[in-house]
Amino acid sequence: MTGLPAVFLDRDGVLIEDSGYPHLPEHLKLIPGATAAVRRLNRLGYLAVIVTNQSGVARGMFDEAQMNGFNALLVKRMAQDGAAIGAVYACPFHPEARDERYRHPDHPDRKPNPGMLLRAIADHDIDPAKSFMIGDQPRDIEAAQRAGVSGFLFQGGDLDVFVRELIGA
Ligand SMILES: [Mg+2]
Repeated sequence: MTGLPAVFLDRDGVLIEDSGYPHLPEHLKLIPGATAAVRRLNRLGYLAVIVTNQSGVARGMFDEAQMNGFNALLVKRMAQDGAAIGAVYACPFHPEARDERYRHPDHPDRKPNPGMLLRAIADHDIDPAKSFMIGDQPRDIEAAQRAGVSGFLFQGGDLDVFVRELIGA
């Protein structure tokens, strides 16, 4: 199979501090080593793809435009440090959404479901067998595995140290 290698990255707790539904510019605090890790993976040919559950939308804490704006700010901040994020997939759905537009009992995009990864794989001609995911919760790892992608649990610290150990660099 031809296809690109990709690294799928959870957002909160992997690229940025999980301060509890971050969505405002002042909530954007990069995890140590986050940009260095993505730069390293970019150099090795990996397309970096963010896959993030954002139930704050369903919970009425912020809207989709704010979510998209915050994600764009993150991508820009990382690009300023030479780290290229190729695509962002965010899932605003939740079973107990206040807003019925976002209420879904088990949305295929909401991790541990693999919908966002499967769409990214199709959209960007990614080879799952050459790809891996880094998440900070078991549901991230499950979503990866269900998309045929290896998943690795990041439990804090420096993301670039974690990535170097993963890839043996
Ligand atoms: Mg997370």
